[in-house]
Amino acid sequence: MRRNLHIKLVLIMVLLIVSLMVVVGAFLMNSVTGYYINEFYQQIADAFGQNDFVRDLQTVTQEGEDGAAMVKEVLDAYAGILGVDRRDRNFYVLDGVTGRCLGGSATPPEGGIPVTPNISSALLGGRGFDSSVTADYMDAAIPITRGGHPYIVYILDGRETARSLNASMFSLIVEALALGLIISILLSFLLSKTMVDPLQRLTNGIEEVARGNFSRKLEITSSDEIGQLTESFNAMAQQLETTIAAVENERNKLDTLFLHMADGVVAFDRAQRVIHSNPAAARLLGRAFTQEDTYGELFGDLFPFEQAEAADGHLAGSRTVGGRFLELLLAPYARASQGGVLVLIHDVTEQRRAEQQRKDFVANVSHELRTPLTNIKSYAETLADGVGELPPEMEQRFLGVILNESDRMTHILQDLLTLSRFDSGRSELRLTEFPFAQAVNDTYQAILMDAQNHAHTVELNLPDSLPQVRADRERVMQVMMNIVSNAIKYTPDGGRIVLSAGQDGDKVWMEVDDNGIGIPESDRGRIFERFYRVDKARSRQSGGTGLGLSIAQEIMKQHEGGLYLVDKAEPGLTIRMELPVCGPREEDAHEG
Ligand code: ADP
Repeated sequence: MRRNLHIKLVLIMVLLIVSLMVVVGAFLMNSVTGYYINEFYQQIADAFGQNDFVRDLQTVTQEGEDGAAMVKEVLDAYAGILGVDRRDRNFYVLDGVTGRCLGGSATPPEGGIPVTPNISSALLGGRGFDSSVTADYMDAAIPITRGGHPYIVYILDGRETARSLNASMFSLIVEALALGLIISILLSFLLSKTMVDPLQRLTNGIEEVARGNFSRKLEITSSDEIGQLTESFNAMAQQLETTIAAVENERNKLDTLFLHMADGVVAFDRAQRVIHSNPAAARLLGRAFTQEDTYGELFGDLFPFEQAEAADGHLAGSRTVGGRFLELLLAPYARASQGGVLVLIHDVTEQRRAEQQRKDFVANVSHELRTPLTNIKSYAETLADGVGELPPEMEQRFLGVILNESDRMTHILQDLLTLSRFDSGRSELRLTEFPFAQAVNDTYQAILMDAQNHAHTVELNLPDSLPQVRADRERVMQVMMNIVSNAIKYTPDGGRIVLSAGQDGDKVWMEVDDNGIGIPESDRGRIFERFYRVDKARSRQSGGTGLGLSIAQEIMKQHEGGLYLVDKAEPGLTIRMELPVCGPREEDAHEG
């Protein structure tokens, strides 16, 4: 840039100087010639304005004289006032009729005096006083009469004086021009120093900003327009730095959000190519994306790209991938040339499952309550219809059923209440310290009678020392009782039940193993669900509600422990419960 501007400056200077010199030179040289011509005609006119001279020219001095010679003689005498020097300026006496040269201060050129426009004027009787600035001579032709014969006094000037004056003026102008050129080149250097250098610095600064280095401040060296420009530039660079930092920050936030959000996002450009996708999208759709993937391949079956791009708001679709329900929202993200379509993938599997569970739960509750109610109603009706007619043993049995069924309903309602307390977080643990081995032993003692009624053998394996645990003893016992009574219930009479306990790091555990009916592989994952029972009839018959294990698992969760099925090959089932020795760290649990 510097070189360009510098050359331009030099060229402007040179052009200025040359054009100035040419104009001044032409004007001067023209003026000099014009002045010289004016002087010439003035001198001639003055001379011919002198009476003596005109009288001497025209007055015949003696009879029969040679008129032309006499005129020449007078002109010789007055050569001074005519400025005739006989070298550059000469006079000639011409015949007033033919224009032929009759004599003069110098020998006429070979071939005679040419008939100039002035001579033509004089031949016609007028004074020829005209000369062009550009001609290389000037002349004047004045008609006179002497002795009745017309003559023309013709003065011819070769303009040598004007020419030599012009020549020396020309060389002067050339010298001035050369000097002017040197000065202009020096001046342009100076100008370039004061103007181009700051501009060059500004250009370098702009280039650095364009490369992303906003922190560089340009030095302000003057208070002129360039100084102001530099100051504005510095302010702009700083503003740009702040704005870009803010934008960058926003982008980082969005990138992090984009990367870690649970919903999948895939963005397509106008050419329908994938330009962005997050890990969630790949996970949900079960495939990785490349830039070669197109909208048509991925979502073309839902809506055509043009329809998604022109959508007002968004379009909604759904899809099932690998057993998961996906909700897809398609929306255009900008309508300008940079626009495209954004696809948001939302996994609604859990939502749907929860909805289904809620529906199942309501259906189960109604069903579980309806069965005992129907029984109560029918037995009560039979009793009412046959008051005093039924045998007392039968009445006794019917009342017994009614009582049993109402107990069962109360039992279900209590269990539901307990679960509802867990769900709403209102159930608090009453934490105390108690020996874990003692709790296991108490459970063993409590079920022994029932087990013996079913001819089960019950083994208890307790290590010598088990620590004290911090837990809600009543609830823990409830869980233990639940799993041991399940073992009794779901093991055909004469079975074998083993209760073991132990410590594993900062946890204690109890396992209940039976050789009963066990649980088919397909049901193993579901037995902790509410109301889930492998064999409904058997469970109901034995007074089960299908809520026992759900409640037990909730209690263990509250203790930050766990309740699991243990994999085993033999028939029967092993259930394991685990408790942290120090109790839960949850704040809502309070000391009992
Ligand atoms: P229930 O009141 O029906 O016993 P639970 O929640 O305690 O309800 O148990 C859920 C289901 O798990 C039972 O209906 C039964 O099918 C199965 N189950 C629980 N314990 C055992 C076990 N020891 N052996 C076989 N099946 C079991």
